[in-house]
Amino acid sequence: MTPIATFFRNLEAKCCTVCGQAMTEQAESYMTECFDCQEKIAKDAYLRHYNKR
Ligand SMILES: [Zn+2]
Repeated sequence: MTPIATFFRNLEAKCCTVCGQAMTEQAESYMTECFDCQEKIAKDAYLRHYNKR
């Protein structure tokens, strides 16, 4: 495997799985969603959980 292939593989792994936006600033994190989508997902999950009661 060439370093270039590794680079593109890492680049691909650091894209938001929701909106597809690159997340170069979170390269050290394990998150797969950007901050905007994480916030949206968290809010959505919270509301869903809250509305169940
Ligand atoms: Zn996103």
